[in-house]
Amino acid sequence: MAKETLNAVVTQKIEVTPELVVVQVSPDGWELPDFTAGQFVVLGLPGSAPRVAWADSEDEPADPDKLIRRAYSIASGSVDRDHLEFYITVVHSGALTPRLFALETGDRVWLGPKITGMFTLNDVPEGKDVVLVATGTGLAPFMSMLRTYLSEQRGRRFAVLHGSRHSWDLGYRTELFTMQRLCDNLVYLPIISRPDEEPVAWPGRSGYVQSLWTDGALDEAWGEHPTPENTHVLLCGNPKMCEDMVALLEGEGFTEHKRRQPGQIHVERYW
Ligand SMILES: Cc1cc2nc3c(=O)[nH]c(=O)nc-3n(C[C@H](O)[C@H](O)[C@H](O)COP(=O)(O)OP(=O)(O)OC[C@H]3O[C@@H](n4cnc5c(N)ncnc54)[C@H](O)[C@@H]3O)c2cc1C
Repeated sequence: MAKETLNAVVTQKIEVTPELVVVQVSPDGWELPDFTAGQFVVLGLPGSAPRVAWADSEDEPADPDKLIRRAYSIASGSVDRDHLEFYITVVHSGALTPRLFALETGDRVWLGPKITGMFTLNDVPEGKDVVLVATGTGLAPFMSMLRTYLSEQRGRRFAVLHGSRHSWDLGYRTELFTMQRLCDNLVYLPIISRPDEEPVAWPGRSGYVQSLWTDGALDEAWGEHPTPENTHVLLCGNPKMCEDMVALLEGEGFTEHKRRQPGQIHVERYW
């Protein structure tokens, strides 16, 4: 595949765990377009790109000349102009992620020149509080939103409800705790679903992320339970979590946001 097809370069790779990475990609010789926090872009690699050795092998060999493309939410703030950051988990049987995980700093990748998506705060009216609910890498668009808006939108409260299996999978934990310390309009509530596998006792909450909404953890932090009148809820990640949260919220009078029928639930499903 021609070098110019792979129009961007991996400029940083941080391993959160061997199966979870934060990757920065910079365009090579062209400028990133403007984007709104919460949007996504397409990354791609040719079938000829090597897979990490520990991934499953493919049932059928990929076409070496064809780009394998997938959507990824941008995790960096929209003020960062020289690179885009991504938060990516490996799917062992997947077509693209075992190839993305084989990339090292300096390696080339295809970065779609168009940044798109409706999962933004554009349709959340000023003054409304915002609850950001994520599983795993569903945190990526929320990092972009917080990095872009948290310090300037002091008139609204933000809450991040983040669920993962283990404490070591809670990427961005240090940054989120720091943001919480510096900005009194942010509450960060991490939760893990497999506390029995922790090497030392986990002092935080355990269960599924949905329980942070139902068991009063957020109410305690905010001093009240959020209502459709004062709060919008954004959901991102595992489709089952999104489904469960939508059902829960609808039971409390929230409705899913549509262009012609504004509501307070905004959803980005990764698969
Ligand atoms: C708008 C949008 C934004 C996305 N942003 C991100 C992101 O920021 N980070 C990210 O890691 N993924 C993200 N994804 C998912 C991503 O596009 C790919 O589907 C994923 O990386 C798997 O690609 P693959 O080719 O390796 O697997 P494929 O061969 O395409 O296999 C797809 C299967 O992998 C599983 N899968 C897909 N995504 C995930 C995931 N995140 N966690 C666990 N299992 C998964 C599902 O079972 C799915 O059916 C996003 C998807 C969409 C639609």
